[in-house]
Amino acid sequence: MSKLDAVVVGSGPNGLAAAITLARAGLRVQVLEAHDHIGGGMTTHEMTLPGFKHDFGSAIHPLAVASPVFRQWPLHAFGLDWIDPEAPAVHTMRAGSNGSVTLERSLEATAEGLGRDGKTWKALFGPLLADWEGLLHDILRPLIRIPGSPFTLARFGIQGLPSAHAVAELLFQTPEARALWAGMAAHTTLPLTTPGTSAMTMVLILLGHAVGWPFPRGGAQAIPDAMQAYLKFLGGEVITGVRVESAAQLPEARVTLVDSSPGLLLKLLGSRAPHSYRAALERYQYGPGIQKFDYALSGPVPWSDPRVRRAATVHIGGTFEEVTRSEAANTKFASPSPYVLAAQHTLFDASRAPAGQHTFWAYSHLPNGSNQDIRPQVEAQIERFAPGFSRLIMQRTVTTAAQIQAFSPVMMGGDVNGGAGTLWQLLKRPNLALTPYRTPVRGMYLCSSSTPPGGGIHGMCGYNAALTALKDEFGIKEIP
Ligand SMILES: Cc1cc2nc3c(=O)[nH]c(=O)nc-3n(C[C@H](O)[C@H](O)[C@H](O)COP(=O)(O)OP(=O)(O)OC[C@H]3O[C@@H](n4cnc5c(N)ncnc54)[C@H](O)[C@@H]3O)c2cc1C
Repeated sequence: MSKLDAVVVGSGPNGLAAAITLARAGLRVQVLEAHDHIGGGMTTHEMTLPGFKHDFGSAIHPLAVASPVFRQWPLHAFGLDWIDPEAPAVHTMRAGSNGSVTLERSLEATAEGLGRDGKTWKALFGPLLADWEGLLHDILRPLIRIPGSPFTLARFGIQGLPSAHAVAELLFQTPEARALWAGMAAHTTLPLTTPGTSAMTMVLILLGHAVGWPFPRGGAQAIPDAMQAYLKFLGGEVITGVRVESAAQLPEARVTLVDSSPGLLLKLLGSRAPHSYRAALERYQYGPGIQKFDYALSGPVPWSDPRVRRAATVHIGGTFEEVTRSEAANTKFASPSPYVLAAQHTLFDASRAPAGQHTFWAYSHLPNGSNQDIRPQVEAQIERFAPGFSRLIMQRTVTTAAQIQAFSPVMMGGDVNGGAGTLWQLLKRPNLALTPYRTPVRGMYLCSSSTPPGGGIHGMCGYNAALTALKDEFGIKEIP
């Protein structure tokens, strides 16, 4: 490639989104990726037996389907095909044939399953649903901005600022609504009593009603594959097998965008980083980690409640009180009765396993960096709601928090969100600034999920960082 305008370190969703945005503006862009494959947290491999395709990282993609940039780009033309199961998610509440509660696509149908809390559910989500695109536009970027939808954002802010626990105590009485809400809140990985956890809970539910919780046919890898193909079409390139560890390794270019940890950014900035900036980034906090389990099964999971088969995503957690206890433990020790987040893609996508056999994807939370093995507790929890599950296991692969971190430094200590989603770190990500993608060193930007809006597959950290670089260094304010 002739002289570069921009280098992007890392090919996660944010690195690729940054590269595409820069290339769409006509810049010559190169992406450098440490692994011999692209995609960061969106990666699919045969992790157990031949023919079983497992998502190493992300499995379910409401944020990707709703992402303003993914919606705008022609990723479908480059091979990305979404599968949208009948229901976004099911929560297993108690053992037995009638023990689950479902987040349905429709607000009405969900409300029907929540008894007397159905009315509250509709009152909480109806107005937000009416302007969900406006709301997403305002929250998938740094929060200190003039909002495009001030009334919707104000409503969301009032309901999202408290802890998920407080909102449930205030609004919901039925075990169904409380359990469903708790299972959504547990995606934050933080104790449910943490202020601000209600915000992420509401976003996930809202997306379930607005766009569903789909996943790519064939595996999460289809997302970066389509993004790379689009980037190539725009003239950009990705080079794999290059781990950037010092600024001296970077090719000459006007801007560098780093889809990695604040720690790597500081390494690349070296003595050029002022003390105050270095100190702020060194204080950046990570949330709990995860231990991950991938199974090759000889048959579908034998849920005692057959309704659990209607969704690809299953929250295995029991009652509101049980999930609260399990998630409260995350910062100190692994819960003896853990909340397990699971995905059963092959019920809807036969291309991922040999005929009649299935993959099963699951993880559970534990303290950041913990090497405790919680497999027995996790499998006992699955068995509680699906008796006979263990007998179907043909092979399993366990991935520890340390292995997650070794895979991507963005997910320090196994924190899949790239930094704790506390109220404070919604503003200070990774430092308190109006435009936190910009660093004190001209031409250097951070674009990973350790910037706003944080974790998940949506590409918005990369997109926002690229817009900042385009404006700062190239005077480009709008991309055609
Ligand atoms: C087990 C698991 C399950 C998840 N489930 C979901 C889910 O279902 N839905 C969802 O939306 N999100 C999910 N996530 C979260 C999601 O994967 C992350 O939030 C997202 O991938 C973060 O994107 P990123 O671009 O910031 O970083 P990453 O995806 O981590 O990408 C960073 C990339 O940069 C590369 N890199 C870093 N440093 C260097 C360097 N020095 N030199 C060269 N290359 C470098 C890394 O190798 C990596 O490829 C999950 C994550 C995990 C691990």
